[in-house]
Amino acid sequence: AADAILRRQRARESSARTYARSFPVVPARAYGMTVEGCDGRRYLDCLSGAGTLALGHNHPVVTEAVRRTLESGAPLHALDLATPQKDEFTDALFATLPPAFADRARIHFCGPAGTDAVEAALKLMQTATGRQGLLAFTGAYHGMTAGALAVSGGVAVKRPVPGLAADVTRLPYPYSYRCPFGVGGERGAELSAAYAERLLDDPKGGVVPPAAMILEPVQGEGGAVPAPDGWLRAMRRITAERGIPLIVDEVQTGVGRTGAFWAVEHSGVVPDAMVMSKAIGGSLPLAVVVYREDYDVWAPGAHTGTFRGNTLAMAAGAATLRYVAREGLVGRAAEVGARMAARLDALRGALPAIGDVRGRGLMIGVELVDPEGPPDSCGARPPAPGTADRVRAACLERGLIVELGGRYDATVRLLPPLVITDEEAEAVLDRLADAIAAVTC
Ligand code: PMP
Repeated sequence: AADAILRRQRARESSARTYARSFPVVPARAYGMTVEGCDGRRYLDCLSGAGTLALGHNHPVVTEAVRRTLESGAPLHALDLATPQKDEFTDALFATLPPAFADRARIHFCGPAGTDAVEAALKLMQTATGRQGLLAFTGAYHGMTAGALAVSGGVAVKRPVPGLAADVTRLPYPYSYRCPFGVGGERGAELSAAYAERLLDDPKGGVVPPAAMILEPVQGEGGAVPAPDGWLRAMRRITAERGIPLIVDEVQTGVGRTGAFWAVEHSGVVPDAMVMSKAIGGSLPLAVVVYREDYDVWAPGAHTGTFRGNTLAMAAGAATLRYVAREGLVGRAAEVGARMAARLDALRGALPAIGDVRGRGLMIGVELVDPEGPPDSCGARPPAPGTADRVRAACLERGLIVELGGRYDATVRLLPPLVITDEEAEAVLDRLADAIAAVTC
């Protein structure tokens, strides 16, 4: 049956399928961080719906909230009307926000994907400031619709779309391992901030007056690259001094994954807008932008949409947000994540193909390199995307689902659910280490 399903979907679906190519698994059931294929094989899922499943698959708190809402007879589609589910969700979400931000915040329900919320945030700030330009970063990923694509870094996916990015100024994200300027770490981050400042103030620097700066506090698709806290504070200072709104994209980093409820909290930065999706819907599609009330400038109807919030997603999302906060899963993500990263880092001696281990909390990246290749000016060896691809396949053979990312597609990314047990964490690392050894030794 599984083979027939795979064959039919391969024949009928778009050639743009990605996950289905990397993981030819037909899932029959899923629970916690386990996915069970139709053939009975079990996999530990370190992709978690691209970082969506904070509570893993089918957590009882989520399924119970969905079941209760279905049985209540509440309208499953309610446009942008006021509903008890929306009220509960908004309450639960605002309770998680940094107080300095929540006190004066408004929420706009977008729908239903992360890219929709990015789009809304950019347009809101363009409306509010009357400016067109945007500041974005190398290595960024914000989504696939025109505005979100324009501020993303990947050239291959942008090239076929004409007219994008004319007014986007790209600044260097502090990539600690292969930082530009030939310097990694904190010093590279300082230089990156100095460069941004110099460029913005250069009358011949080519910067179209910016409506906003958009950044990920930890780049996800860009390869689990955490921005140093000092760099984020510098970006806040630089934008505030020039009257440029700061949009923080927490689509992947949000809901505890990095060891803070929102990754921006690590730095103490208070943004002007936060873009949220993925985990806030508790497995179901939901996306919002939350912004300072000064930017509440849209006239009624200025940004509409048929799907703006979804009753079931709001119920599942409220239950998830409350559970993550109540059960201390944010601290747990920090603790298990640090332990996993430390163990991976300790493998570098035995497995020289591991060039870099980085991330924050349960957002971990392992950049694979050619250990024989010449080091660059930061001491980093050449990226090894072919090795990474073989490691992903070897992981799947060992019952482990991991995805790749990063600028060179050479980074193995681990995004396990926050409910990962110690035993599961050990099993993930055993299988990954075994896969890297099998491919590279
Ligand atoms: N922003 C970030 C940081 C993301 O990681 C993603 C998705 N990977 C998006 C935006 C876009 O979200 P979606 O795929 O739901 O449109």
